[in-house]
Amino acid sequence: MLHSSYIEISKSALQNNIHFIKGIIGPNVQLSSVIKGNAYGHGIEQFAPLAQASGIRHFSVFSADEAERLLQSLPKPTTLMIMGYIGNEALEWAIANDIEFFVFDIDRLEEATKVAKKLGKQAKVHIEVETGMNRTGFESSELPQTINSLINASDYISLQGVCTHFAGAESYQNHERIMAQVASFKQQVQQLKRNSLTPAQLHTACSAAMVAYPETHYDMVRIGIMQYGFWPSPETFRQYISQQEEKIDPLRRIINWKSNVMAIKHVSHGEYIGYGTSFQAPRDMTLAIVPVGYAWGYSRNLSNLGHVLIKGVRANVVGTINMNGMMVDITDIPDVQKHEEVVLLGVQGSESITVASFGELSTQLNYELLTRLPVNIPRLIVD
Ligand SMILES: *Cc1c(COP(=O)(O)O)cnc(C)c1O
Repeated sequence: MLHSSYIEISKSALQNNIHFIKGIIGPNVQLSSVIKGNAYGHGIEQFAPLAQASGIRHFSVFSADEAERLLQSLPKPTTLMIMGYIGNEALEWAIANDIEFFVFDIDRLEEATKVAKKLGKQAKVHIEVETGMNRTGFESSELPQTINSLINASDYISLQGVCTHFAGAESYQNHERIMAQVASFKQQVQQLKRNSLTPAQLHTACSAAMVAYPETHYDMVRIGIMQYGFWPSPETFRQYISQQEEKIDPLRRIINWKSNVMAIKHVSHGEYIGYGTSFQAPRDMTLAIVPVGYAWGYSRNLSNLGHVLIKGVRANVVGTINMNGMMVDITDIPDVQKHEEVVLLGVQGSESITVASFGELSTQLNYELLTRLPVNIPRLIVD
């Protein structure tokens, strides 16, 4: 192994998750696979072709650079939608390549019209309306002007979609806010329709909204976290499972992060382990040195807290996490050899280390922890 750790991406787990999601939305709603944040840390180049081979025909990214990586890694053409950043330089590239994109202000609408005119080609836009998230989206007060611009530019702008994004559908605490967003969205869509603007697709739902608010599915859902096998929050999982007879998690995690034992060391009772004095051996101990540290995305917050799997047994991190390594306690795990497999995240034997437990220990959310997995850890596809 050239690298000190690697990430396995499971094809069968992805297929399982896509099948489950399609079961929730039914045959008439499109599933857009959200692969921003390097496919939530799974790796765009590895994940996207697998998703395409598993039946995904629509992808959503945040920015033009991700769109370019996606196009380069897919063997077949696909529908691609940029939800966030496109510099003006990239707008021409996007329109020329039939890439769809969110438009959330008049500037971008005018710029897109100008570029489309120049190219002699329609730009496919999704009008994002503000419904209460207060991130991006046309204010309802801007809607009349937007409608005018869309009508005037109809030769160059094709209204592919109207959309919005919810501000926290994964928690019931936000229920009223979400319901107000749903109402605002409906009202703004009506206003567009009264002006004979009929978008090809309406879309609003992320993973949490898909599960908790079926009325938000419309024509398409934009699903990130759940296709990777994680629930948006423990609450969303509990809500789902409470309505099911079978109480087992239907999602399977795609990711397994593995390394191996680089060295083994025996330490006497009373010695300190690693930098400083944060851990003093309470007995004679055997340690395995694992060549993964915070430079590889293993948070320093997991010092003296994290655990890994060796021989299917949980081993505690002792001492502080270093830049490129950590020490784990293998005193009670017999026969561990150098090069023994170490699972940092995922399953080994009947034990597993979940991102959730990781997240709780290091106060990072699922989403954050995954997307911080460095791009330069190799990703391997397994069945
Ligand atoms: C990230 C994102 C999604 C997907 O959210 P998940 O919770 O991962 O399903 C959907 N829509 C927009 C606009 C997003 O930014």
